[in-house]
Amino acid sequence: MSETYLIDRATVLTMDGATGATPVERSIRVHDGEIVAVAGALDPQPDDVVLSGRDRLVVPGYVNAHTHSWEALFRARLDNLPLEHWMLLSYPVLGLAPLSPDLIRLRSQLVAIESLRNGVTTLVDDVLEIPGQTEDQLAAVFEAYRDSGIRANISGHVMDRPFADHFPFLADALDADLRRQLDAVTVVRGDEYLDYARGSAQRYADYAGGRLRFMLGPSAPQRCSPDLLAGIDEIAATYDLEFHIHVLETRTQAVTGAEFYGKTMVEYLDALGVLNERVTMAHGIWVTDSDVEVLADRRASVSHNPISNLKLGSGIAPWRKYLDAGVNLGIGTDGMSSSDTARMSEAVKAAALLHKVTGPDYRQWPTAQEVLTAGTLGGARSARLGDTVGSVEVGKRADLVFYDMNSLAFTPRNKPELHLVYSENGSSIDTVMVDGRIVVRDGRVTSVDERAVLDELQARGPELRRWQDELETLNRALLPAFDRQYASVMARQVAVDRYSGRGECWLN
Ligand SMILES: [Zn+2]
Repeated sequence: MSETYLIDRATVLTMDGATGATPVERSIRVHDGEIVAVAGALDPQPDDVVLSGRDRLVVPGYVNAHTHSWEALFRARLDNLPLEHWMLLSYPVLGLAPLSPDLIRLRSQLVAIESLRNGVTTLVDDVLEIPGQTEDQLAAVFEAYRDSGIRANISGHVMDRPFADHFPFLADALDADLRRQLDAVTVVRGDEYLDYARGSAQRYADYAGGRLRFMLGPSAPQRCSPDLLAGIDEIAATYDLEFHIHVLETRTQAVTGAEFYGKTMVEYLDALGVLNERVTMAHGIWVTDSDVEVLADRRASVSHNPISNLKLGSGIAPWRKYLDAGVNLGIGTDGMSSSDTARMSEAVKAAALLHKVTGPDYRQWPTAQEVLTAGTLGGARSARLGDTVGSVEVGKRADLVFYDMNSLAFTPRNKPELHLVYSENGSSIDTVMVDGRIVVRDGRVTSVDERAVLDELQARGPELRRWQDELETLNRALLPAFDRQYASVMARQVAVDRYSGRGECWLN
């Protein structure tokens, strides 16, 4: 663990301010988990474990700026549903009993394994348990990530407003029986969550040497009371923790802002006084130009989740507008039901591709430098880890991924940064180091028994599918009401069009 490594003359994308995603030859010394020297060449010291950099591309690990490990059990079950419909079946509101810590541990291990094997060294895991998270459930996630060796921010997801009140026009669309069933669903009490969150922030303040941190996860403005949002902001400030919230993911949510608050969701959060540099907004698709300015001014981050946004038909986030305004962008996979994988390489590639079809001005299209920055340093900044990881710089923790450039994806060898964005899928990875500890060697995870985790989940497959099928049958009863609600929403005008990528005003 406290070994000293000398990475000898590798091709490096430092992602720092000097060379960014331009390949340079560098040697890197790592001591006690920290990068202590970076230079063109370093002389070996007696205690060095030398890792040859020959034919190796060394890059800071990806930071997955938005995911939900809950969905690991729901991957590859659902297709062709918009967010609000999809949530009914992937986060069943009716009939769900709390998951056992045992299953949560297994689920978290699966996410960690797929992440590490894809070069993800930090997870921002917005852990949503239904009806609300218990201390045992949270502990299971911390323990799984501690053992796997990955770095993570772990919430703490919460909503304290009754489910039926999260959506405009739903009350009129529900029949009396379904309304009664929804009203009977347990709702977390805001003051109890704030006590729980404060306790968790303290309990996990120095967990796994600071590698794992608690995060505040207010679900979304329309799902949380103003008092809860204010209380969470205060805890985030006290402990300097990430405040992670879903905002303006769908057209429905743009209409919700207008219907509930008479303003955009961003304007609403700003009026509450909770937008600041600790906030990461997941998605941020249906924002207006003035919302983008507000976010830049408040120094909030946005996690861009292109694959999830494509799969759920949510729309196209205004990538170039955010960068032009100076908003910090991270990239996330989102959960393994809305994207069906935790592989960040796919989200980075999708980010590089998606915005090319939003307009003909090719000078505005995302560059490899931009998407790799968002996938590493941008995500680190959004996670309040900008001084800790995200680039190869002296003083940062050693979260490094080694790609074997003799692989298929790098043959024939051209521009390494373009291979990484467009050709690589994780199969070239031979070594992954997190906090100076090697957790993947020869492409295999060494920190946990990968085969045992997969075997156990496979063995439990029939039991899990029966349980999910029952929940799905129960919750499908809500879909006709959501179809009616959706039609009411789509009949409303909104200020921007994020399906086309043009983002033009429909009004005025
Ligand atoms: Zn999400």
